[in-house]
Amino acid sequence: MEFKLWEPKTQPDILGKEGSFGNIEWDYPTFIENIYEPLRKKYPDYITRRSIGRDTSGEYEMWAYEFTPEKYVKTVYMQSGVHVIETDAYFGLARLLTMIANREDERLNFIRDNVRLLIVPVVSIWGISKRGSYEEIMDDDRWRFPHNAARVNANRDFNDRKAQETVNVINFIKEYADDICFAFDCHSTTDVVLGAYLLPMSNGIPDEIGDKHKAINTALYEKHPTDVYKAFMGEEKDYPVPNLTNTFKGGITDMFGIYGITPEHNDYIYDKKLGTSLTMTLSVELLGNHLLQVAECDLYNSKLRRQ
Ligand SMILES: [Zn+2]
Repeated sequence: MEFKLWEPKTQPDILGKEGSFGNIEWDYPTFIENIYEPLRKKYPDYITRRSIGRDTSGEYEMWAYEFTPEKYVKTVYMQSGVHVIETDAYFGLARLLTMIANREDERLNFIRDNVRLLIVPVVSIWGISKRGSYEEIMDDDRWRFPHNAARVNANRDFNDRKAQETVNVINFIKEYADDICFAFDCHSTTDVVLGAYLLPMSNGIPDEIGDKHKAINTALYEKHPTDVYKAFMGEEKDYPVPNLTNTFKGGITDMFGIYGITPEHNDYIYDKKLGTSLTMTLSVELLGNHLLQVAECDLYNSKLRRQ
């Protein structure tokens, strides 16, 4: 079946104003209390949560959420907030889930009715809590990688497991490993040399699957003209087109045989600030399309495993 690109409505920003979806400066407990908890209380039969442990510092309780339709045919795992500067990724995931739960978009209702979603809203919970002001968030040299209590980089920590956050995530996934058909590690990027839409860090994914996700990113890359980024960058360079880096070793595929992708859109190519309506719309559009692909296509099922 040919995948038809999904076009979401314009999304609210996360700049803490009236009408915003949230505030980019919220620490982890505030983020959870203001976004995920109201949604869970609104739909107690659909959404549940559980503690999966504390962070490395021991300061924060770490939460996982399950969005469970009455009858579901597949289970998808999604996490975000591995890198603390990538606010639009973890707010974008939360906004997409809000749209699904609220039945705000007709096409997303297929997910609402058929797909169980296992969600770790933020991995680096200490990092986003201690990072502080908007100016500190924008200081990506300081915050992009040393992001959690153990000062390790969680998406490269799956094998070493230096951070308790990683251990918590692995233990959570392990319980559902037989059911999960696909995994998402949701990022955004502010690195201007990386291009517009990336799909790095997959792990031996079959071409038949990988090509579907590359096609989505290529369509988005073509849909959103690059003149904004050229104006912002001030010089023309040979930017890479969307591709799949399919040689990453480690992670959920090595551990459980489950395939996954790391979708990223590039905030700084499209806007000068993080968390604007524009970058939030791009984030929701990117994640929503990849999730719809997984939901709507029968190739994604619990038998999809690396041999
Ligand atoms: Zn990242």
